[in-house]
Order: sequence, then structure tokens, then C-alpha cells
Amino acid sequence: MRQKIVAGNWKMNKTLEEANILASEVTGMVADEVKGDAKVIFCVPFPYLLPIKNQLGNNTRIFVGAQNCSEHESGAYTGEVSAPMLKSMGIPYVILGHSERRQYFGEDGKLLAKKVDVALKHGLSPIFCCGEPLEVREANTHEALVKKQVEESLFHLDADALKKVVVAYEPVWAIGTGKTASAQQAQDMHAVIRTHLASKYGQAVADTIIILYGGSVNAANAKELFSCPDVDGGLVGGASLKSRDFTEVIKGA
Ligand code: PGA
Repeated sequence: MRQKIVAGNWKMNKTLEEANILASEVTGMVADEVKGDAKVIFCVPFPYLLPIKNQLGNNTRIFVGAQNCSEHESGAYTGEVSAPMLKSMGIPYVILGHSERRQYFGEDGKLLAKKVDVALKHGLSPIFCCGEPLEVREANTHEALVKKQVEESLFHLDADALKKVVVAYEPVWAIGTGKTASAQQAQDMHAVIRTHLASKYGQAVADTIIILYGGSVNAANAKELFSCPDVDGGLVGGASLKSRDFTEVIKGA
């Protein structure tokens, strides 16, 4: 049985005060209402990592993650944040390769392979995002593209390193659009990713890899999506910004 994970990607939202309120409301609701053992991750803006982590204290279900890190370990890279810095703050997770990073900041598979390496070297678990834009889905080449994204940034890892990676499949046309992939579309692609990992690492290793779905996950569709055999939870944007909605999504896992 794979661990279920529901990660909230706050993106560039919330003031510090709002962030504190959101985290404390979700923490309370999860403690009071959520059964099961799904792990929750708040992927927050860099400046909020420590305040939110401190607020969580030794909560055993909810963790914090960053939304990006540099491919460099230190040096003259003004404005960047490194994996060793995150590690030194006790941050266990970092999202890498989100489609917004690929689209607006030109991050490609090769760069992301370096980021994955530096994150793993410093003991962070990457939440590695992949997913196709609309025109690729319409051209029916989405499986090939996603396989290529996984290959380019992950296939150089050995099996022990790969096991520390969480994969997030996020079709770009579903992100922030309210247009969710159907449970069948999500399951189909997750199975493609798992089979592709199995072709390289063997089925036993592939079966341990947590694959999250992302793209307009909400309180109404989470349960159906998360019930698919190869969907191990979600990476949630918009719905993670409201405590009630996010708690309902977590219940879906
Ligand atoms: P969304 O974003 O849930 O708002 O579609 C998901 C994501 O970008 O991770």
C-alpha cells in the first residue's frame, strides 16, 4: 500500500497573516475531522516556510514543502534559494518542474534533472511535476510527452534515489481552469507513468512510487480521482487556499 499524500500548492498567494490563519484552520479541521492516514503537505512561498513549520510544531500528519529550489548549491545567484538552505530549515519536500516554472521561467527537462539531483543530494524529496498542454492532448501525443518528461529528469537516478521522488501528473489544461481530467483520464496516464517507470526500474520499484494527480482538484471530485488504483493523492492549487475546501479534498484521500 502506497502512502496517500494531499499537497496544497499555495503558489504566490496570501499575506503572512492569511497564511498563518489558513494553516491553523486546516490543522484544526484535519485533527477534528479527518480519519485515515493521508499525509498533508503545505507547499508555501519561501518566506512562510519557517513560520508555518514552527506553527505546525511536531504535527505528525502535516508537513511543509517549498515550491522550487535552485539547481546550484550556493553562490552568486541573487534571489535564489538552494536545497541546502531548505534542508537546514528542516523542510522535507520541494515541488520541482511545475508547469508554471516550465512555462514562465523556461525550466526544461535537463535543468530539472539537475534540480532533482541537488534536492536529493541534500535529503529533500522532490515532488516532480509533469503533464501535457492542451494542444498535445488534442494531438493525442500526451502519453509520449509525459513519458519523455519523466525520462529526461528522472531516468538517470538509481532505484533508491527514485523511491524518494513523488511524481505529480498535472495536465496543463486542467490547472486553474476548473476543467479537471476525468478519473479515467487520470488513471490512464498514471498507469502509463507507472508502466514506464517499471520498464526502467522493474515493477516492484514502480509499485512503490507515489503518483499524485493535479489540475482543478476540488471537494467535489477529489474522492473519485483519489480512488483510482494508480492515483495516490493530489497536488492541489486553488482549493488549497480555502481551509474548508482543502479539508474536504483531504477527506477524499
Ligand atoms: P489547481 O492547480 O488545483 O488550481 O488547478 C494545481 C497546481 O497547479 O498544482
